Amino acid sequence: MARILVTGGAGYIGSHTVYFLRKRGHSVVVVDNLSRGDRANVPEGILRVVDLRDTARITSILKEERCEAVIHFAAYISVGESTKAPELYFANNVGGSSSLFEAMQQAGVNKLVFSSTAAAYGNPPRVPITEDQPIAPINPYGDSKVMVERMIELLDRYRGFRSIRLRYFNACGAEPEAGLGERHDPETHLIPLVLRAVLTGEPVTVFGEDYDTPDGTCIRDYIHVSDLAEAHIKAVEHLLYNGADAVFNVGTGLGHSVREVLSAVETVSGRKVPYVSGPRREGDPPRLVADSQKLQRTLAWKPVRADLERIIADAWQFARKLGT
Ligand code: UDP
Repeated sequence: MARILVTGGAGYIGSHTVYFLRKRGHSVVVVDNLSRGDRANVPEGILRVVDLRDTARITSILKEERCEAVIHFAAYISVGESTKAPELYFANNVGGSSSLFEAMQQAGVNKLVFSSTAAAYGNPPRVPITEDQPIAPINPYGDSKVMVERMIELLDRYRGFRSIRLRYFNACGAEPEAGLGERHDPETHLIPLVLRAVLTGEPVTVFGEDYDTPDGTCIRDYIHVSDLAEAHIKAVEHLLYNGADAVFNVGTGLGHSVREVLSAVETVSGRKVPYVSGPRREGDPPRLVADSQKLQRTLAWKPVRADLERIIADAWQFARKLGT
């Protein structure tokens, strides 16, 4: 079993990945500056509170802990914020990554799994989306991830890095047995907002009901965070066993509309979802669905928690424990 550094391991997807890595017997060190992550998401003793831009400290952690690979999550993730303050995304997402890669270079660590995004495709010309579709982000968040992907390709080529880039679709759900779930501040994601509406009675807004989709609302590919975590484990193990560099989409291949999410929440919770209709949210493509055949074929990964009600039941269990 390997020694793995996880950046952003106190965040939502990072903490689930840490949980499954340890369950599989890997030894994990988390670096997180806690600017958005939560200390409570990380098991005792494995957290180092440090900013990725502190290249010297990251280098010494990699060396002292004898890390063999890095899984890199640490990043800001809000599309809206990125349009208001793109420089934050350059500094944190691009600058943080660049510093991490320099530290890896200095410490002699060359295996990397990177958390990328379907936002790299912007408004894709074809759905389901394969990895060879044009890269055309439509907001600074997506651009920041694409810039880091490009750096990684260059490091693979010129510095002997061995990397897997995972482009996620809509991460959601929770791992109740680990006490982990989704909690962003401010929350902008559909499923936690709908669950909050059920719990508080404050209506959630449906952003647009006039899209060219069967029920007029946007369609997304909702992937359970634990399935996503398993994809990272397959990816890092592939690199540890000398597998080749690659980029993979991670999604279920199923599309669900906003309305379908609302009605699945009603089925799972047994309560009505209070909601209001609102205008379209700027920059929302009508339909984003992954083709993740490449990942399924290459790494023998399968989304085993793809059922929407299952995803919502896990998220609901976590939301109820949280209160609001
Ligand atoms: N959405 C919505 N109301 C909300 C938040 C999201 O109708 O309060 C819609 C949004 O327009 C999109 C889908 O839900 O079609 C998923 O949005 P989310 O922000 O969760 O993820 P994104 O697809 O933007 O990554």
